[in-house]
Amino acid sequence: MIASTTPRSIHQSPDAAGYFGNYGGVFVPPELEAPLAEVRQAYEIVSRSHDFIEELRRIRKHFQGRPTPTYHAARLSKKLGKTQIYLKREDLNHTGAHKLNHCMGEGLLARYMGKKKLIAETGAGMHGVALATAAAYFGLECDIYMGEVDIAKQAPNVSRMQILGARVIPATHGLKTLKEAVDSALCAYVADPVNQIYCIGSVVGPHPFPMMVRDFQHIVGIEARGQILEMTGNLPDIVTACVGGGSNAMGLFAGFLDDPVELHGVEPLGKGGNIGDHSATMTYGREGIIHGFRCYLLQDENGEPAPVHSIASGLDYPGVGPEHCHLKDSGRVKYITATDKEAVEAFYVLSRNEGIIPALESAHAVAHAMRLARENPDTPRTILLNLSGRGDKDMDYMIEHYGTGDSFGI
Ligand SMILES: *Cc1c(COP(=O)(O)O)cnc(C)c1O
Repeated sequence: MIASTTPRSIHQSPDAAGYFGNYGGVFVPPELEAPLAEVRQAYEIVSRSHDFIEELRRIRKHFQGRPTPTYHAARLSKKLGKTQIYLKREDLNHTGAHKLNHCMGEGLLARYMGKKKLIAETGAGMHGVALATAAAYFGLECDIYMGEVDIAKQAPNVSRMQILGARVIPATHGLKTLKEAVDSALCAYVADPVNQIYCIGSVVGPHPFPMMVRDFQHIVGIEARGQILEMTGNLPDIVTACVGGGSNAMGLFAGFLDDPVELHGVEPLGKGGNIGDHSATMTYGREGIIHGFRCYLLQDENGEPAPVHSIASGLDYPGVGPEHCHLKDSGRVKYITATDKEAVEAFYVLSRNEGIIPALESAHAVAHAMRLARENPDTPRTILLNLSGRGDKDMDYMIEHYGTGDSFGI
């Protein structure tokens, strides 16, 4: 695996067929089986290769700016009571979020496999930007498939991808959003799996992607564990992160799975518990198959993926990573929710009290930590949360809909 300190429990999962308990596996059309087997075999080799691991370490240090710091949010903590809140600052990772951790890993794997082009779909554009960055770094071509509707909505990210040298290819059928972009990207992959490699954006998709992306994100948990031990002399009481597909949460949790700490995944409850109003997959979903793997899935009455909503576009996915589903069933991780409204409050409170504007996705984890602190103001506990990204991308939206946030003072 990528880190020598990988705990044993991670080595044990998934099984050879890519299952974490009941979840995961490979549910793809026959044409994709051979290309996926090729990725699996290549990853098996490079994940044990000294050269690969050393090169990834160099990239993380000199290009991405790792390690990112862990930061004691002392002013915010003090206002809420005796809970001490610590932030793992993935917003300071190059390009402003944790996604580059797995995109650089996928890019390096592509180069080892002799691929010429990285391809993927993107919704709001964050995965597309991270992958376009990796492609530019490695001198690879990059095609990003994006729904025509999303292209119109996310102009700055489209420009970023194009400046980085990626081709942004519109998906023009159906609703012209993320689902159609996935269809187009997979279609393109099937057409040329020799020169191209499909790079997934979270711990989702068919085996080996959930395992591979977790391994690439594990660095977040390894760093944070060492940093908080050094800062406080102890492990935190609670470790928490937002869960969309689940990559930033899985990376952080992986560092603490064998420790006596509570792990909390925060799902987006959006506007409430009615279908279509939220994206709280593990809270309201039932087992189903999406994008080549089995997981908890938000479904309509016909078993089709349900429409989803979250104020944070990086969290609105009707499925979730298979390892999270297994960790929920085993009881090792507790999954709770935060609403749009709670995330909006946390967005302004963190900005005003710490000088850190969080991504709306990350603001869900901040909201949960604030709730825990308020519920137990007299209990001295330590909470470590993953500040998965910075909020620059959300500022225009927030100003337009909520103003400068003066009403959110604490
Ligand atoms: C994409 C994104 C997420 C959600 O993805 P996960 O795979 O669940 O981590 C969270 N935070 C930020 C900043 C993102 O860009």
